[in-house]
Amino acid sequence: MDREAERPTHLLGVLAVAAVPVAAVPAPGTLTSAVLYLASVSLSLLFISRLVGQVPAHRRRGWRLVQLSLGVSLLGEVLFKTWQHHDHTVYLTPGDPFYLLSYLPLAAGLLELNRRRGGHFRLGDRLDALIVTASAACLALVFLVLPVMRDDHLSLAGQAVSSAYPLMDVLMVFAAVRMLIDGGRRTPTLWLLVTGLSCLLAGDVAQQLAGADTDSVLFPRWVNSLWLMSYLGLALAIAPAARPGYLPPQPSPGQSPMTVTRLACMTLAAALPPTLLIAEAGRAEVGEQVLLSIGTVVLVALLMLRFWDLHRQLEQHRRAMGELAATDGLTGLANRRAWDLQVRAGLEHARRTGTTVLLAVLDVDHFKRYNDAHGHAAGDALLQQAAAAWQERIGSAGLLARWGGEEFVALLHCPDTDTDTDADAGHGLQVLDGLRALVPHGQTCSIGVARWDGEEDDAACLRRADRALYEAKHQGRDRLVAAEQVQVRS
Ligand code: GH3
Ligand code: MG
Ligand code: MG
Repeated sequence: MDREAERPTHLLGVLAVAAVPVAAVPAPGTLTSAVLYLASVSLSLLFISRLVGQVPAHRRRGWRLVQLSLGVSLLGEVLFKTWQHHDHTVYLTPGDPFYLLSYLPLAAGLLELNRRRGGHFRLGDRLDALIVTASAACLALVFLVLPVMRDDHLSLAGQAVSSAYPLMDVLMVFAAVRMLIDGGRRTPTLWLLVTGLSCLLAGDVAQQLAGADTDSVLFPRWVNSLWLMSYLGLALAIAPAARPGYLPPQPSPGQSPMTVTRLACMTLAAALPPTLLIAEAGRAEVGEQVLLSIGTVVLVALLMLRFWDLHRQLEQHRRAMGELAATDGLTGLANRRAWDLQVRAGLEHARRTGTTVLLAVLDVDHFKRYNDAHGHAAGDALLQQAAAAWQERIGSAGLLARWGGEEFVALLHCPDTDTDTDADAGHGLQVLDGLRALVPHGQTCSIGVARWDGEEDDAACLRRADRALYEAKHQGRDRLVAAEQVQVRS
């Protein structure tokens, strides 16, 4: 969309935002209050409806479901406000079935949006979300559902509807936690959705707690404002996602990470029900219940600490395995696998910085003869000493790896000579040529070098260096040959 076409959308967004505080001005229960409230919800719905068509088709379904949820809610709001205008006291209203129904497409839409972000199935993430949800469900059942069930003034239908809200809220908790814990980048879209959900939850809980003491359906301004902010948050969240070229953040790769924050949330979720049990039981005299509850909290804390310790051990193990898998056992240099991973990053760095890069293959001369003469152990020691000396010389200017046997590969970022790249390459060749003198015990090595052309892949460049090495061997060993140049140093 060009700027001209975007203007009405911007205007709609500004109106939708402005409508929330405006709707809180008139006293609840008045006609003006109802009209402004409905206008605010309608503006949010209009905003999401205007943008939903601009989201790429494969990601549109989730937003359509959120839009549907807002639509069904608006229907409920219209019925509710009409009803409220006539009767302020009856708890069950014709709006309720629509409100309740609207949670389902909302949950489905949010989970669909989350699914569209990609990533693999991770049991850990789901279990963590379920731990928080189970804790929320526990609280909702005890503090919101049970009081409703015990309320003799409510009809059966009233009890069913009033207990359905907290259960729907628990579903929202699950959706919010799922969105927050996949380790992906937290975008404005994500924060707006989470803010919308939080306002919805806060409004619902406040209303339900207040509703327990009174059968009035006139809600205070701030509760109404929370609901309006929830509509607004859910609707505005589409704006970044509808921008051309928007890519939803990918969940972080790998296993579900156990960060300190996540563990703290898990601990809180697990310890909350027993802590509240202590508070509840504490009202009576100290007895078995209190002692058992305290015991449960202590156990949860200890279990979580143990869990953290296991996680730490696993991390250490993973790091050690990673190092082991990337290191050559004899020389301690990077092995071929690590080379493959690092060489591309080295070339990419050179591309960005414009440095001249040389790739080299080094091969110890007549190594079989040396082994035969001095024994395999002496051969091993020679490889270790040569590798250490080469590594020290190349240092941070490049990368050295053991390719296999007595063959090594190196990547060298040539020093910048402030003249031209040929001069840089010349200096690089000098550095590499200097490696020959570092082979101990009077032994020699041959080196084939190729200058990276800035385009070819590492394997192609290395093949040229290997051909140069072959040439160096052919010409009598103990020399450096640069590919496609008759530049021999011996
Ligand atoms: P050239 O100058 O043509 O490279 O001759 P060369 O003898 O070095 O090459 P060749 O490929 O014929 O032999 C390589 C030898 O390297 C054979 C093998 O026993 C030895 N070798 C390979 N890996 C190791 C190792 O880890 N330790 C020891 N001690 N020897 C090894
Ligand atoms: Mg050799
Ligand atoms: Mg060899």
